[in-house]
Amino acid sequence: MRRFLTKTLFVFIALSCGMLYTVGRVFGEYPQYIIFTAILIILDFFVLSIFMHTNSEKGYYQDFKIEELKEQLNILNSENSGEQRTNSAILAKTSRYNSLKLIIEKLNHDLKLEAVTDCLADTAFSLIANNHGTCQVFLVDEDNQKLSLVKSRKENKELVIKTKEGDVFDNWVMRHSNPLIIEDIRKDFRFDLDKIKSQDVRMFSSLVSVPLITNNSVIGLLRLDYQKAGYFSQDDLRFLSLLADLGAVAIENSQFFGRTQDLAIHDDLTGLFTKSYFAERLKEESKRRLRMNSYLSILMIDIDFFKQYNDKFGHTAGDIVLKKISSLMSEFLHAYKPLLSRFGGEEFLVLLPEMDKAEAFSLAQRLRQRIGQEKIILRRQDTFVTVSVGLASAPQDTIDDDGLIQLADKAMYMAKQKGRNQVCSI
Ligand code: GH3
Ligand code: MG
Ligand code: MG
Repeated sequence: MRRFLTKTLFVFIALSCGMLYTVGRVFGEYPQYIIFTAILIILDFFVLSIFMHTNSEKGYYQDFKIEELKEQLNILNSENSGEQRTNSAILAKTSRYNSLKLIIEKLNHDLKLEAVTDCLADTAFSLIANNHGTCQVFLVDEDNQKLSLVKSRKENKELVIKTKEGDVFDNWVMRHSNPLIIEDIRKDFRFDLDKIKSQDVRMFSSLVSVPLITNNSVIGLLRLDYQKAGYFSQDDLRFLSLLADLGAVAIENSQFFGRTQDLAIHDDLTGLFTKSYFAERLKEESKRRLRMNSYLSILMIDIDFFKQYNDKFGHTAGDIVLKKISSLMSEFLHAYKPLLSRFGGEEFLVLLPEMDKAEAFSLAQRLRQRIGQEKIILRRQDTFVTVSVGLASAPQDTIDDDGLIQLADKAMYMAKQKGRNQVCSI
């Protein structure tokens, strides 16, 4: 537009000059011609200067507008890229929290401690650490109240975690019952680096660790560490804390379930397996024996004249005898991987996997002799007990589970009839 107007103005000046020349020629008067020409040229320049001034103002205004638009465009661009970053962060957060539903289902689905700790380690390692560095799950040992490493996940499969009872950081979390996040262990004033180096050759820079708490007491901890400094964010710590809260409840449930299950399959007095659990396991062992085309033997063991002990020393003393004989049998048969159960009052059933009749007979004889040698002090009196043992083996005697128990029972009564303190088989 500006260019067009400038051109028009030049044309106008040229035309003016042409007109003046013509007028000068027609009138032939020299001075009037000069004066007239001068007036016209001054007039042209005056118009031109006004025109240029107006245009330069307009041009300046347009340049300013363009600059302003460019600036706005830059602001919008930077805002847009900021929003894109926020969006991707929100997306990552959403996907983490979406997976929480699945994690809760998984944690509640399996009541076994093994599965719960596996789920915690897998989730923390993949969702928070992106499978970098290491993830460790510790539980507090109920007996000595020390931490014990139960699960670990490692980026470097050959790496060995030496601190099985936790390191200085784990003990800090235990002591304070608080989460811990460290950007760089070399710069953290709370920990002595030399002490850390002396504990574990495996060095890392950043760490995030949270306690597993139930009923106000720490039952373990969940920890992630990585070589790179500043790897974990506050958001990671929040998510790990959430995971630890869910995990602690699941661990408590699984421990409670484990204890209940334990009580259900163990006899209160002797700690041996119950009769029903023995029956279950006998079925499984029978199937295994069949698959492997192997052997299996069972012993029915009954204490001789046990009623007399009760009558003479009292029922509590009788209980001591039952406990003593149970632990003695467990110890003596330990190497044969037996399944020991309390079948009734003073009767015991022993399952000996992969053992044929001859070997089982010889073992039963040695066990009988060993029991007979055991001195039991009842009311400051040295006492001894004897046992009668009935033996039945598969496949020699029968391959039926119930049949095996019945035959062993029958053989035990034979031993009683023959005078007790002996081993019999059908
Ligand atoms: P036998 O040689 O014929 O087996 O004689 P026994 O006296 O051992 O057999 P009997 O069946 O006559 O008596 C078993 C006794 O075991 C009777 C019961 O008082 C006792 N008994 C059963 N369960 C328990 C228990 O849990 N604790 C105690 N202390 N005694 C028990
Ligand atoms: Mg008896
Ligand atoms: Mg009996």
